[in-house]
Amino acid sequence: MIGPAADYLSDAEVRELICDLCRHFYQLGWASGTGGGISIRQRDQIYMAPSGVQKERLEPQDIFVLDQTGEVVQNPGTDFKVSECQPLFMNAYRLRDAGAVLHSHSLNAMAATLIYDSTFKVSNLEMMKGIQGVGVFESHEVPIIANTAREADLANSMAAAIKAYPEANAVLVRGHGVYVWGETWAQAKTQAECYDYLFAAAVKIKELGLNPETGGQG
Ligand SMILES: [Zn+2]
Repeated sequence: MIGPAADYLSDAEVRELICDLCRHFYQLGWASGTGGGISIRQRDQIYMAPSGVQKERLEPQDIFVLDQTGEVVQNPGTDFKVSECQPLFMNAYRLRDAGAVLHSHSLNAMAATLIYDSTFKVSNLEMMKGIQGVGVFESHEVPIIANTAREADLANSMAAAIKAYPEANAVLVRGHGVYVWGETWAQAKTQAECYDYLFAAAVKIKELGLNPETGGQG
């Protein structure tokens, strides 16, 4: 079962939680075909899944542990390599002091990247309240970066986008998906849920022939 949010979790609890969340994200369509996943930081230890594995079948012993610099300090002792998302997750830890970061291959996020140029922009949607520091009648922007052949090659452009959009808690990748972070695993998860709703809403509003930047209003 998923435990309480901000409190310190034991090593065993974090491993179990990552497996649990990955199964949940798989059910949502955020982590199909080995894509997507979540990383959680507990004090100076960062937990990450292996690369290229079925995320819904992860076992607690499959999880890597990294230090604050992103170096692997504990590996599962198998042929696994640490997640391809490692430098991208590290961006959120380093630049935003995140407590957790997740990557989603949600169809909603992917489709949203196709209806905007360089930034996703919405306003007047209630679910914006679920994003830290964002009010419902403000305009909220999320940067969209170009995709690369290898996930790890997104690191520099993602870092630049994080610095350029300090109010965003996410970075979209065109034709690919989204990275979302939060102060805790629970905040990363709930913000990712709100963002996913906003991405779906924007696509739907566009389909209705209305302007997603105003939430279809005005
Ligand atoms: Zn990806």
